[in-house]
Amino acid sequence: MVGKANFETVDALLPTTLNEGELLVKALYISVDPYMRGRMNDTKSYIEPYEVGKPLTGGVVAEVVESKHADFLPGDFVLGNLTWTEKQVVDGAAVTKLMKDLVPLSYYLGILGMPGLTAYFGLLHIGEPKAGETVVISGAAGAVGTVVGQIAKIKGCRVVGIAGSDGKNAYLKNKFHFDETINYQNTTDLSAAIAKACPNGVDIYYDNVGGAISDAVLQHINKFARIIICGQISMYNSTETPVGPRPQVALVKNSAFMKGFVVSDFSKHFPEGVSQLTAWLTAGKLQYQETVVKGFDALPDAFIGLFRGDNTGKLLVEV
Ligand code: NAP
Repeated sequence: MVGKANFETVDALLPTTLNEGELLVKALYISVDPYMRGRMNDTKSYIEPYEVGKPLTGGVVAEVVESKHADFLPGDFVLGNLTWTEKQVVDGAAVTKLMKDLVPLSYYLGILGMPGLTAYFGLLHIGEPKAGETVVISGAAGAVGTVVGQIAKIKGCRVVGIAGSDGKNAYLKNKFHFDETINYQNTTDLSAAIAKACPNGVDIYYDNVGGAISDAVLQHINKFARIIICGQISMYNSTETPVGPRPQVALVKNSAFMKGFVVSDFSKHFPEGVSQLTAWLTAGKLQYQETVVKGFDALPDAFIGLFRGDNTGKLLVEV
């Protein structure tokens, strides 16, 4: 389990002058995301591991303080994969200018950013939901899960969310209009709870969590079910490869499809995703929820909070 002792806050000097094309920016919102835990392991993955002694990087919304780039002025807001620092010098070509009046700036780290696009492409391009189908989502009350559930509702599906507290599940029903919820923390027989919540079986399983929760869901899949492997957060702190029930027999029996993906697989289609999510959001068809932690020094504990289930919706730090 990642702990505060794995982090160090240091003071460092910024360059005194900017080169042509560079910006000095100050961070406003810094995203904490589960995939960052994977980058803390020295293993081969779809993205390089972090280096010990160097700042972490991730999604940051920042304000331009000084500019030597023709496209940016002081006071502009930008989004980029930047370092966890209060101020930094960045290449103007590495950030995207944000429209400030459309939605709150933090939304570009959540529903209109990486997690929202993950929900959109995973569900629609891999799951291909059809009206009347049952969609089960693990990690349902988080940044990705809350958006998946709402898109599934827009597509006319019956939506069942699995999350770790009654409070989160009340949100899922009341704010996001999920049809059924399961609190995996106080359910002794998860398989029975899934059977009850899904009387017609499971057509799509959007998996953010893995482990025992997924083992239970897979017992209830229907013929031609689609299983979308988005994340496996229950295993990110594991030191050994967990061994569980093997799903292959259930996949064969049900002619089911299981696929992992990384959101960047869909990068060519991001403009479509952002445009549709923005349209649904501004039309009031999507609701949004954030858990905002305040202060730069709170970053490590905010990040660790992802693994304690501290958040409902997108977890981020307001610097
Ligand atoms: P999130 O759901 O907002 O936050 C993490 C949540 O996971 C926690 O609030 C907690 O909720 C749950 N959790 C933590 N430890 C758990 C455990 N041991 N067992 C069960 N649940 C646990 O995070 P997110 O940003 O939306 O990401 C969700 C998943 O999608 C993660 O697995 C992430 O790695 C993955 N992801 C994948 C991609 C991709 O490109 N494939 C992109 C973004 C995210 P509870 O209180 O409900 O336990």
